[in-house]
Amino acid sequence: MLIGCSAIQEVSSIRVDGREYLSLRAISERYGSEISNLSNEGKVFLKGSFGEMIFTAESRELQLNGLRVFMGDVVLLNEGFLYISKLDIQKFIQPLLEPALFAPVPGVNKIVLDAGHGGYDMGAQNKELGLNEKDLTLEVIRYLKLLLEKKGYTVVLTRSEDRYLGLDERAEIVRNEKADLFLSLHFNAATNQKATGTETYILTPQLQQSTGDSEMSEKDTVELVGNQLDPWNAIAGFYFHRQLVYDLKGTDRGLKRARFVVLRNLNCPGLLIEAAFLSNREEANRVKTVAFQKRLAHSMATGVEVYQRMLKRTQNEVAQ
Ligand SMILES: [Zn+2]
Repeated sequence: MLIGCSAIQEVSSIRVDGREYLSLRAISERYGSEISNLSNEGKVFLKGSFGEMIFTAESRELQLNGLRVFMGDVVLLNEGFLYISKLDIQKFIQPLLEPALFAPVPGVNKIVLDAGHGGYDMGAQNKELGLNEKDLTLEVIRYLKLLLEKKGYTVVLTRSEDRYLGLDERAEIVRNEKADLFLSLHFNAATNQKATGTETYILTPQLQQSTGDSEMSEKDTVELVGNQLDPWNAIAGFYFHRQLVYDLKGTDRGLKRARFVVLRNLNCPGLLIEAAFLSNREEANRVKTVAFQKRLAHSMATGVEVYQRMLKRTQNEVAQ
């Protein structure tokens, strides 16, 4: 019997509960990146041409170049090594690092802008400051329309005045218009009045958990129409969220996933942006200024341009 030869070998993939996971080392080898050892806080750093990714054991949160991103599955800690679910690699890491794999690459010309809520549906409110989410979203969206039209995009609004519009109707407009991109704008509210910051949502991929859920359920097994755009949702979501956090300078609450009704049946990439909290007094005071509203509209317009540049780069790569 040999003693002292029990060094654990890191395997490149493992299967847990029918789900395949790849080791971070296998991922680092694919991207020719440097990998650190597991730290005391359960973190592993990957550094490469893409920048820096920080994975945390037993967490769905990934930091990508300092930005918070929530994956669909928890990062597994197995025998001292971290493993990422294959779905997260296919649905998030590969789209961002190797977008050309997901050709044909979409374009962006016609954009549907959606001012959240409207009519009797006020959305979030700050009664003390007299703020209604439905008015703020419409203000910003109207201004964003002008900015995007000046840049040559075709813009369609789901609503251009204060009226009620169902969530399905909004998605139907996107489908009927054969739009290239859908941006739905909202403002947040929470019972915890300290909550502040920006979060951006994309549709949850099939067989993955939404960020707000703590475990898998039956609804996670369904493939939705919008899931055909999973890679481009991830790309659009990442670049928009990065732009918003940079420009608004609020708390980065992360790029998250949810199966919101407005995102489910889209036939183009779509995002739902929760720009800031109306329930936080300080943040609501900022949001109510025209300066903030213009900054937000400019940030979203820049987001469109950054996303379009990314698509063009990828189209060129595919053509070579
Ligand atoms: Zn809302």
